[in-house]
Amino acid sequence: MISTHNLGFPRIGKRRELKFALEQYWRGESSLPELEVTARTLRQTHWQYQQKLDWLPVGDFSLYDHVLDTSLLVGNLPDRTDRRLAETDQYFQAARGQSSKQLQQTPIAAAEMTKWFDTNYHYLVPEFSADTQFELNAERLLAQFREAVSHGFQAKPVILGPVSYLWLGKAKDDSRKLDLLADLLPVYEQCLLTLAEAGADWVQIDEPVLSTELDQDWQHALTQAYFALNKTPVRLLLTSYFAPLRENLNLACELPAAGLHIDAVNAREEVIKVIDWLPAHKTLSLGVINGRNIWKSDLNSLLDWLEPLHQRLGDRLWLAPSCSLLHVPVDLEQEKELDSDIKNWLAFAVQKLDELNCLALALNHGRDSVKAELAQNADAIQSRRASEKVHNPQVRDRLQTVTEDWGQRRSAYAERSKIQRARHALPLFPTTTIGSFPQTTAIRQSRLQYRRGELDEQSYQRDMQQQIEYAIAEQEKVGLDVLVHGEAERNDMVEYFGEQLEGYAFTRFGWVQSYGSRCVKPPVIFGDVERPKAMTVEWIAYAQSLTDKPVKGMLTGPVTMLNWSFVRDDQPRSQTCLQLALAIRDEVQNLEQQGVSIIQIDEAALREGLPLRRADWQHYLDWAVNCFRISANGVKDETQIHTHMCYSEFNDIIESIAAMDADVITIETSRSDMELLDVFNAFDYPNEIGPGVYDIHSPNIPDVNQIRYLMERAAERIPPERLWVNPDCGLKTRQWNEVKPALAAMVQAAGELRQDAAA
Ligand code: GLN
Ligand code: ZN
Repeated sequence: MISTHNLGFPRIGKRRELKFALEQYWRGESSLPELEVTARTLRQTHWQYQQKLDWLPVGDFSLYDHVLDTSLLVGNLPDRTDRRLAETDQYFQAARGQSSKQLQQTPIAAAEMTKWFDTNYHYLVPEFSADTQFELNAERLLAQFREAVSHGFQAKPVILGPVSYLWLGKAKDDSRKLDLLADLLPVYEQCLLTLAEAGADWVQIDEPVLSTELDQDWQHALTQAYFALNKTPVRLLLTSYFAPLRENLNLACELPAAGLHIDAVNAREEVIKVIDWLPAHKTLSLGVINGRNIWKSDLNSLLDWLEPLHQRLGDRLWLAPSCSLLHVPVDLEQEKELDSDIKNWLAFAVQKLDELNCLALALNHGRDSVKAELAQNADAIQSRRASEKVHNPQVRDRLQTVTEDWGQRRSAYAERSKIQRARHALPLFPTTTIGSFPQTTAIRQSRLQYRRGELDEQSYQRDMQQQIEYAIAEQEKVGLDVLVHGEAERNDMVEYFGEQLEGYAFTRFGWVQSYGSRCVKPPVIFGDVERPKAMTVEWIAYAQSLTDKPVKGMLTGPVTMLNWSFVRDDQPRSQTCLQLALAIRDEVQNLEQQGVSIIQIDEAALREGLPLRRADWQHYLDWAVNCFRISANGVKDETQIHTHMCYSEFNDIIESIAAMDADVITIETSRSDMELLDVFNAFDYPNEIGPGVYDIHSPNIPDVNQIRYLMERAAERIPPERLWVNPDCGLKTRQWNEVKPALAAMVQAAGELRQDAAA
């Protein structure tokens, strides 16, 4: 008999119960015991969903983040944490920081947050130094284990392995993280012993670093770790996911452990090799259900593949989702408004577990035992494959006509920039913003009422026009050079466009945790993408009619649209991206025809699409940049293309950024003190650039001297004729009373810089 298990279940709850409970607690409106009740109820509900599995994950639940949980488990919350607080409050303090207002003393900084491998989940970065000491604190994990056992579940504790834990953290001094391994291992050993005493049999120990490029030291660390940990009485299921093992394959097979889990969705081609290499006493868990996407699996074809493997492995074969289900929404059943065909093609966490169960039954008892389920699944797969909703011949035909020159501007930057300069006659150090202005309650109200049908088209139009009037007037008052319409009509930079494109669907409850209590609801690209009509032209044209200054057209780029959506799995991502690129290209051309002379195409998420392994980066960057170029470069020389990116790790992809060939790029820099610009010491960025000088994440108003200082740093690396002055990002989360003085300071600083230059 093969066994089934799950690597982790979404914690947030099918109605985001955890989010609301957390936020209520943080506002001081509920007590810790009340929060604990919600947490316990969620865990139990989630175990109920998983009860048909042979092994249920325990310890995957977290009040904020599983990496921070690990820090708590090994006694490594940041030193600055206030130890007088209750443990959970210390934990939240480490996660969120605390302002001086809350504390009436110096503020406590939150731990740094960064992306969990190549997902959109963010974890809290563990902090290390030469004197870091570890101490086991397994109470929570044990309590959850006992909780599950008391409900009669066969529980499998889940912990983040010691090597990945170190790998994910950051040394705050110049110590070597790996030097801490020797001190960390005894704590892990003790943890496993404690779990064994409590009755644990299998323990899932995650080492996702196995799918990254590891040097010898890190590989050796894995060997050292598992020689030690495998001596404990539990059975270890060493768990990797997200990408192929490649050069770590032999190591992963040979590390001392009772079993190995691999991602058989993203690395199916490695399965046979793993089976060949894996010692005969080891269990092999195959992650066959995609834990990162929301499509139904093709169960019949999976069985065709799995049956012979089952023959070979017998009981040693386990089945699971490819990775934790943290990255998909909870339950499709809630989606009452979704198109019924599309719904029939999807599977969220709960449905994925049903699929898993169905596969196990078919393997253990023959396909006939789940005949009806398999037939239904075959119908759904067939319906998606053949659906007219998915396949649009016009889009296909058009893709055939795309040639290389679609991505090519007519003239090189040096030439077209002269024409653009003559057209706009902008001063040195031109000032602009990134697009959005404060999203006031009035704006939200109006959008919401319109959505609900409580506000008619005309009144909504009027409301938005008034917002545009206000934004334009304020920008003129402040004296900015290039204006924006303010994006009042957009609630989200991807959703706004997705809703107007064919091939996109939206869920009501398809929430996925981004970090802590924050969730995102990625739209679903299910079919060929086509733009039925212009999406932004009216708003921009209206804004332009109100002023003599240029107003930027404002679009979201194809790569960002792709990276922030659930995408189809029946064609390469690059192909879907190209379809998006064509839709945006058409919009760009419509804007140009309307006389819009500057068009900004945001690529906030370009970096996020980078594959886990560097060896795969260039391939991604090539097609991503190509898609951007196709969307942007169908314009005349006199049209100025801007792009915007809101992050500062730039150094390793700068050549691809330059290859996008935008006339102007605006980027986030203010917090890093222009450190980011160091890359321009070595790399001669050819076009114009606006390094952000106003940190929009903070309510602080930047002062004129600070802005001048930052711009002067920038001017050391980039000729002043090619510099713009702008904030780090859009201003939608700020308030007008902050934005007005901040922009005024920016304009004043630019004025002073011009005077200095003239002198
Ligand atoms: N134009 C968008 C805005 O200003 C850009 C947002 C972003 O980069 N995340 O809101
Ligand atoms: Zn941004």
